Amino acid sequence: MQLHSNTLQIHSKEKLKWLTFPHFDATGKTKHCFTTKHGGVSHGIYQSLNLGFSRGDEEENVRENYQIICKAIEVDENDLVFSQQVHKDQIYHVTSQDMGKGYRLDSDIKEIDGLITNEKGIPLITFYADCVPLFFLDQVKEVVALAHAGWRGTVQKIGAKMVTVMQESYGSDMKDILIGIGPSIGSCCFEVGEEVVNEFKKAFPDEEKYLIMPRQNGKYMIDLWSANKLTLIKEGILEDNILITDLCTKCHLDHFYSHRGHHGMRGSLAAIIQLK
Ligand SMILES: [Zn+2]
Repeated sequence: MQLHSNTLQIHSKEKLKWLTFPHFDATGKTKHCFTTKHGGVSHGIYQSLNLGFSRGDEEENVRENYQIICKAIEVDENDLVFSQQVHKDQIYHVTSQDMGKGYRLDSDIKEIDGLITNEKGIPLITFYADCVPLFFLDQVKEVVALAHAGWRGTVQKIGAKMVTVMQESYGSDMKDILIGIGPSIGSCCFEVGEEVVNEFKKAFPDEEKYLIMPRQNGKYMIDLWSANKLTLIKEGILEDNILITDLCTKCHLDHFYSHRGHHGMRGSLAAIIQLK
């Protein structure tokens, strides 16, 4: 099946394919992307643009994959700033001192699921295979950020925490912040049991009927995209400034790695953003 999206822009260069948010592109202020499986050199379960170093793939191939995607989006892979993601809600302020941590240097940025910076020329990167990537841009104060929101990050409301940090640390005005919610597991595929549902009910007492759909089999489907969107709107982000993907990673195994869809045997996708 061809990769098609009504909300995200699909870019191609030979076999390589990557996605961007049109409302971010329209500002001319960022280089950014969400990657797909296409256009890399990895084999087997990692085929082909695996960007995860810690999943058992050959390091040489992963490095070549970085060179391929970074060249296409005009980012220097040697400057990428990685963090160790742990499904929590801590946010780290990235400065030029951090450039290269994770790719060129060991990273001391541990237990961090959100990266933010207002410095130009620093590429931030976070990793995915079903969890929800949140992209942030304050086009006036010029601040960019990424947050890794799996179901745990979603109930901990890492998106709301990020926009609060943008306000308090960088002077952002809510109306200037653009949000992109990227490819991840959709409500079509995110089936959970009682334990996860109870966490959602606690986190979203007023909205649970919109976010949780009971099934015949005693399980529930949860809408992570809407949960993140509602969290951000409640925080004061304008609805028109939020763009949500229409691509579920588990429904599109030809194009994306999906932890659930591939039963854990998979590579990693990445979100990258840099202020121009
Ligand atoms: Zn799906």
